[in-house]
Amino acid sequence: MKVLILGGTTEASALAQALATRTIPAIFSYAGRVASPKSQPVPVRVGGFGGVDGLAAYLANSAITHIVDATHPFAEQMSRHAVLAAERTGTPLVALSRPPWQPVPGDRWHPVSGIDKAVSSLTGPGQRIMLAIGRMHLDAFQAQPQHHYLLRLVDEPDAPLPLPDYTVTIDRGPFTVAGDLALLREHCIDRVVCKNAGGEGAAAKLTAARQLGLPVLMIDRPVLPERHEVHDVGAILHWLDHGADLGV
Ligand code: NAP
Repeated sequence: MKVLILGGTTEASALAQALATRTIPAIFSYAGRVASPKSQPVPVRVGGFGGVDGLAAYLANSAITHIVDATHPFAEQMSRHAVLAAERTGTPLVALSRPPWQPVPGDRWHPVSGIDKAVSSLTGPGQRIMLAIGRMHLDAFQAQPQHHYLLRLVDEPDAPLPLPDYTVTIDRGPFTVAGDLALLREHCIDRVVCKNAGGEGAAAKLTAARQLGLPVLMIDRPVLPERHEVHDVGAILHWLDHGADLGV
């Protein structure tokens, strides 16, 4: 058995730890987006595979027997490629994901179906917006230049970002409600824009927004090809032991 973990999330790191503890052979794959990725207790590879063809070749050449797609729910391309390469090579695949966040009483969420819809929803007078979508796709928000954007990034940008008016705060999380309340207050934020990533570490901003009565523009997850999906590491371990029980 050799498990390929497609990573970049806390769930992927938890799985790597669980496999290492059980001495189940595994390789952890990072896209290579951050300067110093979290170290892992299993061998790590970094960088794209070269599309579906590249991933299929990698699966064969590395004798991968199982794929766990534990990428972020918005890593749409990687997840699509994984499904196709798994089908092509006959490699069993399961996704390890976080359930999406659900609104609770007091939340002022406005769901939108993607980045473009989020951008077009931001017409109107200039506001101070916490734009919590990571570094990718920031350029789309150039279309709404009247706002001041607060960006929280993992690494210090090495070049100016493609927005006319912004502040950057560097932090990797997990975040706390007290910390995010202080951040929203300090920057006089009027509105939060974020992706429905799910999970605990990034949910603090939603609790903070609720406590301050702030609206949240919530970008829904992309729709992915059908695949078997579980939400906890225990289910992955069960699958590795008894894959046939899950029909995967
Ligand atoms: P993406 O758009 O779905 O992927 C673009 C390309 O990057 C893929 O086609 C693949 O290149 C490469 N890639 C992505 N994830 C990879 C992985 N784990 N290992 C090797 N190659 C990978 O992905 P993304 O949204 O840019 O996310 C990149 C990474 O950041 C993922 O690992 C994801 O878990 C993590 N992340 C993403 C977000 C987010 O909001 N999107 C948030 C937090 C963390 P090839 O086609 O060449 O194989």
